[in-house]
Amino acid sequence: MRSESVDTLIGKDLEAYCGKCKIDTWHTVTAIKNAKIAKVMCKICNSYHAYKAPAAEAEKIKAAKATTRRRTTTTRTPRGKKDWGTLVGQIEDRQVVDYAISGEFSTSPAIRHKNFGVGVITKVHNKNKIEVVFQEGTKILAQNLQMA
Ligand SMILES: [Zn+2]
Repeated sequence: MRSESVDTLIGKDLEAYCGKCKIDTWHTVTAIKNAKIAKVMCKICNSYHAYKAPAAEAEKIKAAKATTRRRTTTTRTPRGKKDWGTLVGQIEDRQVVDYAISGEFSTSPAIRHKNFGVGVITKVHNKNKIEVVFQEGTKILAQNLQMA
């Protein structure tokens, strides 16, 4: 959709940032594209360049973007592969129980396996299966199994 009001801006003066002058200067609009100011001519240095919002406004945008970036970095969580080190760091020693195939670990946060060491239980599949993240990788272990 073409906007008449924007098209009529051609030839009009407006304040914009000039990369050559390095300041906000008055520019004449020379081209409109997709209902937006595409090209302007600086009235100070007479250079044609793409329209850039006045620096004062650009600063505001930059500040907003910086805030967003900071927010995304802090909430970033490792996806996919579960990190053993991080998981173990959230477990207290007294929460680690010795693993045995006949034990019940559905409510335990972590186990100590005689071959694999300390592992963090990340999922209880059912009453006989738990998913445990060990330093060497994720393993499915049995629980509540009575050895004959
Ligand atoms: Zn200029």
